[in-house]
Amino acid sequence: MRIILLGPPGAGKGTQARILTEKYGTVHIAAGDLFRDNIKNGTPLGKQVESILKAGTLVPDDVTIKMISERLDQPDCKNGFVLDGFPRNVAQAEALEKMLKEKGVKLDAVVQMAVNDDELVERISGRFTCSGCGEGYHDKFKKPHNPESCDKCGAKGTFTRRPDDNAATVRTRLETYHHQTKPILPFYESRGMLKTVNGMASMAEVTSQILAVLGQNKGSGNNFAPKKHG
Ligand code: ADP
Ligand code: ADP
Ligand code: ZN
Repeated sequence: MRIILLGPPGAGKGTQARILTEKYGTVHIAAGDLFRDNIKNGTPLGKQVESILKAGTLVPDDVTIKMISERLDQPDCKNGFVLDGFPRNVAQAEALEKMLKEKGVKLDAVVQMAVNDDELVERISGRFTCSGCGEGYHDKFKKPHNPESCDKCGAKGTFTRRPDDNAATVRTRLETYHHQTKPILPFYESRGMLKTVNGMASMAEVTSQILAVLGQNKGSGNNFAPKKHG
């Protein structure tokens, strides 16, 4: 499976990417996570982008494109990937098209997650993540079974909230989405690659819809064979 998940902040891109990764063994490439890892590790890239993420605007294209291109060259991407948060403007979409062509890789589909802006603020303000394993949670929509520990990895006291998940930055990020990211929808539509799912449905229902639109996509072959367990 080689897909792009497209949608505003809080649409559920990360949530679905993690589910698909677990099910199909694809690699989840989240631009935001890569930037946050660099910030956490104090790398030169991290230092360069920290204030940009804090403000909720976009990191310059050259920096972002280079980071993603290098990530796609890692051997674990050979069996497929879910791109989450990239591309975020037309220039990045064009650069991705060019780089995939050069790498000899073909995308199966671009999946748009359609949601209402009103719901997004609630989704983002209730979001938290396990810093141990990266699992995502929500105060209302996805509470851990035990409020202190992660359902997935069992770690205690590892829940964190993103500093940019505050009301002011969320507004900037939504504006950035409407002005800069949405124009990539016609870009992919004109290439016959755009599929849309209802991001307002339950998490499980959204996953089913994604799998359904991908199933209709001829030429996907056995890329979707479920990951073998045990
Ligand atoms: P969300 O999941 O809420 O959409 P992300 O984790 O994807 O947020 O992104 C967090 C921040 O990282 C963005 O607000 C932006 O500053 C930066 N960022 C992420 N992806 C890109 C990108 N493709 N181009 C430029 N900046 C990006
Ligand atoms: P994105 O990566 O697009 O910014 P996330 O996957 O981080 O979005 O989801 C944002 C928040 O909303 C998280 O707290 C997540 O648990 C929750 N969430 C995701 N999908 C749904 C859904 N379908 N219904 C309700 N809450 C959801
Ligand atoms: Zn965990």
